[in-house]
Amino acid sequence: MSGATRVLVLNSGSSSVKYQLIDMADGARLASGLVERIGERQGRIKHEPTGHPQRERYEAFPDHTAALGAVADELAEDGLGLDSPRLAAIGHRAVHGGTRFTEPTLVTDEVVEQLRELIPLAPLHNPANITGIEVARKLRPDLPQVAVFDTAFHAGMPEYAARYAIDKATADAHQVRRYGFHGTSHQYVSRRTAQLLGASPEAVNVIVLHLGNGASASAVAGGRCVDTSMGLTPLEGLVMGTRSGDLDPAVVLHLHRVGGMSVDEIDALLNRRSGMLGLCGDNDMREIGRRMDEGDHDARLAFDIYVHRLRKYIGAYYAVLGRVDAVVFTAGVGENDPAVREAALTGMDSLGIEVDPVRNAVRGGSPRLISTDSSRVKVAVVPTDEELEIAQQTFAVVRRSSASEQP
Ligand code: ADP
Repeated sequence: MSGATRVLVLNSGSSSVKYQLIDMADGARLASGLVERIGERQGRIKHEPTGHPQRERYEAFPDHTAALGAVADELAEDGLGLDSPRLAAIGHRAVHGGTRFTEPTLVTDEVVEQLRELIPLAPLHNPANITGIEVARKLRPDLPQVAVFDTAFHAGMPEYAARYAIDKATADAHQVRRYGFHGTSHQYVSRRTAQLLGASPEAVNVIVLHLGNGASASAVAGGRCVDTSMGLTPLEGLVMGTRSGDLDPAVVLHLHRVGGMSVDEIDALLNRRSGMLGLCGDNDMREIGRRMDEGDHDARLAFDIYVHRLRKYIGAYYAVLGRVDAVVFTAGVGENDPAVREAALTGMDSLGIEVDPVRNAVRGGSPRLISTDSSRVKVAVVPTDEELEIAQQTFAVVRRSSASEQP
């Protein structure tokens, strides 16, 4: 496998496939792109080869086979095709690994079967992941394929953080427990934060705030996740773009019994019509910021609710960790919105957290500190890179497995 250092990372959703080709020799991104509207009358592929103009095509992609075929064609046009001997593996983002998959896993027929058994835990995500894996295996049957799970980083959470306080037999019968998501991001960002602090991951305790359209917080002690805000599904925890996050579970019962809503209607309400969108009609924090500047009351209240929830989690994870070395912001909102960062941490001087307003206002795409020099707890902004993390984990699995095959 010497010389084969490239990893193709695939993130297959129900109607889209995102991809990146990364060379692990130097971490360089050789190409990236997106196929959208798979299964619709007209789809689109956007392909961005690094250092060359991007290309865009509109055509029908009836299924994932057609979509991945188009990805392979685009890559081939740049001399980066799937038949290249420099391609070491394909790394797949897999959403739900349940309790079975706690590590990046080399895909075999048996693994695909086991992934199928996990579909009830992630009915929206896992089927698309499996399709992506199956199509990619057909395209290159000889190439190692690795599944990297969104839940894996949280799998080591202590049992007291992972269990809900409900009847144990019922919970076990239906695999009801807290799994957590965004794991590759929390793992990458916590490790990168340690690097920024000049420390090894084992030496630091970090609170990671992944604030994108979906949002989650995690408490990471010495490189291991000890608690995270998402649960059985990505619905629990922080207020998100369109998801409610935490609420009294009896709200669901009430909406069903008194409001007459069906389970599917409540599911759609809580996942797609709640959060910032439900509160004020917008889920993009840029638009909410603009409306607040104009004195819009609903936008202000939504922002305050969002920040209040965030502060509760920061306080909770501070207590869980006991000693916190850094609070770190990542993803779309976390990386780009100084107002959210400031509001989340203001007035926490007595906890040793002091944000420097000038540093916080500076825009930039690289990891940076935004705390004052005297702040005991460092505050950082670290852009997440889930694709790079998936590529690294994939490459590590392939190297381990090829090393173990040596005579
Ligand atoms: P996801 O991967 O969950 O779809 P991202 O991490 O890409 O989401 O985050 C998308 C969100 O980031 C947008 O909905 C928007 O609220 C927020 N966002 C992006 N850019 C900015 C910005 N410049 N200022 C404030 N918020 C931003």
